[in-house]
Amino acid sequence: MESRADFLIIGSGIAGLRAAVEVAGVGTVLILTKAEPREGNTGYAQGGIAAAVGQDDSPDLHAADTIAAGDGLCDERAVAVLVDEGPRYVRELIEWGAAFDRDPDGHLALAIEGAHSARRVLHAHDATGREIARVLWDKVVHLPRVTTLEHARAIDLVLERDGSCSGAWFLGEDGSIGSVRAGAVLLATGGAGQVFSDTTNPAVATGDGVAMGFRAGARVIDLEFVQFHPTALRMQEQPRFLLSEALRGEGAHLLNAAGERFMSRYEPAGELAPRDRVSRAIERESQQTGNPVYLSLRHLDHAFVHARFPVVSGACRRVGLDLARDPIPIGPAAHYMMGGVETDLDGATTIRGLFAAGEVACTGVHGANRLASNSLLEGLVFGARAGRAMKRAGRERAGTRTTVPVPAEIPNGTAKRRQVSGAEVQAVMWRQAGLFRDAEGLESVLGMLEPLWRDLQDNPADRWTRDPAARQTANLVTVARLIARAALRRAESRGAHYRTDHPQRDDIHWKRRIVEELARRSHSGGP
Ligand SMILES: Cc1cc2nc3c(=O)[nH]c(=O)nc-3n(C[C@H](O)[C@H](O)[C@H](O)COP(=O)(O)OP(=O)(O)OC[C@H]3O[C@@H](n4cnc5c(N)ncnc54)[C@H](O)[C@@H]3O)c2cc1C
Repeated sequence: MESRADFLIIGSGIAGLRAAVEVAGVGTVLILTKAEPREGNTGYAQGGIAAAVGQDDSPDLHAADTIAAGDGLCDERAVAVLVDEGPRYVRELIEWGAAFDRDPDGHLALAIEGAHSARRVLHAHDATGREIARVLWDKVVHLPRVTTLEHARAIDLVLERDGSCSGAWFLGEDGSIGSVRAGAVLLATGGAGQVFSDTTNPAVATGDGVAMGFRAGARVIDLEFVQFHPTALRMQEQPRFLLSEALRGEGAHLLNAAGERFMSRYEPAGELAPRDRVSRAIERESQQTGNPVYLSLRHLDHAFVHARFPVVSGACRRVGLDLARDPIPIGPAAHYMMGGVETDLDGATTIRGLFAAGEVACTGVHGANRLASNSLLEGLVFGARAGRAMKRAGRERAGTRTTVPVPAEIPNGTAKRRQVSGAEVQAVMWRQAGLFRDAEGLESVLGMLEPLWRDLQDNPADRWTRDPAARQTANLVTVARLIARAALRRAESRGAHYRTDHPQRDDIHWKRRIVEELARRSHSGGP
C-alpha cells in the first residue's frame, strides 16, 4: 500500500502534534504513530513545562540556568530561541485551553525545580504532559486534512536518488508493509529510554527515530549524554514509575536506610542538586550501605501532598504505599536522551526533506545535561519551528516525487546470524553504559554490539522483518552502539556522562561534540 500526504509526521507527542498544527491548513498531513496515539513520553510528563513568565524571572535568567546545566556544551543560539520564544508558545497553549494550576488569586502557580534560579515551572498537578497532550489533540482533531494512522510503526525512511528523503516505510498492525510519500517528513519519535533495563520511559521509547535517521545517513550527535533521573520507584516486579523532581521542589527528603538525610555529604545543594549528581549520590549511598534509599514526604502536610501529586500518590497506592506517610524506595533510571538527530534551529536535519523535533532531535539546547522541565518546552517551540520550515520545504519539493520500488522480498522472521534479545541489550547497557562508565565496561559492551551491528549492515533484509520484536531489537542495537561508542570516545566526565576512569571535566580536549554519520545511501530505500 502506498499513501501520499504533503506532510508526514512520525510520532504523536508534543513535538509531532505542535508541528501538525503548524502545517495543517497548507496541505494534507499524515501522522503515523506506533501504538495508541497518546502513548509516548509526553503523556507521562509530570513536573511541568519551564518558561520565563514569572515576575521575578526573565529569558536571560532561564538561559543562564539552561547553559549552566548543559555543562559547557549548549548551543547558545538554540538556548536563546528556546527561552525567548518559550513564553509565547506556552501562552498560546493556555489560550487553547491548557489548565495549568493557579494560586488562589488566579495567578499561574509556578514551581521551582533543581538547578532553576526562579519559579518558572507551569504544571497541571503532576500530570502536565497529559494536560498538554489533551489540548493539542483537541486542536489537531479539529484541523482539516489531518489523518492519524495508529499502530503504524515507521521502519525506515524512503530516500531519493539524490539522497533526499521523500517518505517512510511502515509496518501496520496486521503485519503489512506500506509506504507514505510526502513533500516533507518529520521525525518526532521521542526518546530511547528503553535502551536501558531501568527506565522511566514507556515501551514505545526505543530510539526508532535515531536508528532510522542514522541508517538513512543523517548526522547524529551528543548520544553519550543520557540523563538518569534520580527518583524512580525501585521495587521488585514493579515498573520504574517516576517520582517527579517537583516532590523534592516541594521539600521531599532523600533518606538512607537509617533514616538520615545524606545528600549534603555529597552535594552542597542537597536534594536539589542537578539530576546527574543526585543520581550518583543515591547510587553511591546505596552501594556503601547495601540498602535502598528512600524519598520521604512525612514532614509535609499530608492533605497537600495528595492534592498536589494525585498521579504519584495513586501510583504509590497501587503498590501498597502511602506517598504522604511511607518512605518510598527509589533509585535512578534512564530518563532522557540529550543527543539525537542533529538539526538546525528550524528542525532541518542533514538530509534534505527530513526534519526532526522533540526528544529525537538534537538542537544542542540541552548540551551535556538537560535542565528539568525544558524538554516539553523544546518539543513545543522546535516542533512549531520545524512545522514552519516544512511548509517552505514542502512547497519547494512539490512535483519532484518519484515512485518507490516495493521491496521484492520481505522475510517473515529474521535470518539472524547472532542471537540477542532486547532484554540482553538493555541489561548490558544499564550495567556498563549507565550512570558509571569506564573504558573497560564500554569496550565490553561494544564487543557485543559491533558484530550485531555489522550483521544488520551486511544483511539489510533482516531489517525488513515483519516481526516487531526483532525490529525493535535491531533499533536498540543501533542506538545502544552509538551511545556506547560516543561514551567511550569522550574520555572525561561532563554533565550526565560520568567516567570513573576520567572523573574530571577536560575542556582542553573535550569542549566539543561527538558526531556520527554513515556514508549516504543514494537509492530509493528498500532492501
Ligand atoms: C515519566 C516522565 C516524566 C517526564 N516529565 C517531564 C516534565 O515534567 N517536564 C518536561 O519538560 N519533560 C518531562 N519528561 C520528558 C518529556 O516528557 C519528553 O522529552 C517529551 O514529552 C518528548 O516529546 P516528543 O514529542 O519528542 O516524544 P514523545 O512524547 O515520546 O512522542 C513520541 C511519539 O513517537 C511515536 N513513535 C516512536 N517510534 C515510532 C515509530 N517507529 N513509528 C511511529 N511512531 C513512533 C510514539 O508512539 C509517540 O507517539 C518526562 C519524561 C518521562 C518519561
